[in-house]
Amino acid sequence: MKIICIGRNYRKHAIELNHPIPTEPVFFLKPETALVLRNRPFFYPDFSTKLHHEIEVVLRVCKVGKHIQEKFAHTYYDAIALGIDFTARDVQEACIKKGEPWEKAKSFDGSAPLSPFIPKEEFDDVSNVSFSLKRNGEIVQTGNTSDLIFSFSRIISYVSQYITLKKGDYIFTGTPSGVGPVQIGDRLEAFLGEKKMMYCNVR
Ligand code: MG
Repeated sequence: MKIICIGRNYRKHAIELNHPIPTEPVFFLKPETALVLRNRPFFYPDFSTKLHHEIEVVLRVCKVGKHIQEKFAHTYYDAIALGIDFTARDVQEACIKKGEPWEKAKSFDGSAPLSPFIPKEEFDDVSNVSFSLKRNGEIVQTGNTSDLIFSFSRIISYVSQYITLKKGDYIFTGTPSGVGPVQIGDRLEAFLGEKKMMYCNVR
């Protein structure tokens, strides 16, 4: 399986990082070893001193697809979760400055804590889902999928022009504004609407 991540998919987040608003989706991959499941702790990597949380809505791909048309894209995912796209921001900034790929900053082991999935049918409208992240009990990020620059369908259609989607793949759909640093000892909690989906202790 693979984890596809969309970058800069909320206007205010692109602005807070001084990135241009993209005119087509930006994506990158994380390997399976990035996953952290069942509320296991996240271990702060020793190669960074500026590790950021990015709360994101995650889609679960339910069938194989290539060159998927946007109008059929909604049939290619069957469930929704929350995940954290942990980012070594200092490493990413150095990569961007040198024009290098981001993998060191984004795709390291443990960089993708993930909640359990909720079937898509349980949502009234997947394009109007609110979510939030608390750090040590205080809300640091809030988002709503109505603010996505590129919709779930557009993302699926776009990525599948380049990479075949397979059942069991995950798609991180981008983070809203409010990204910020975490420290050892922090506790992160992710909410879909009012429902607590996961927590993550930083060790
Ligand atoms: Mg992200």
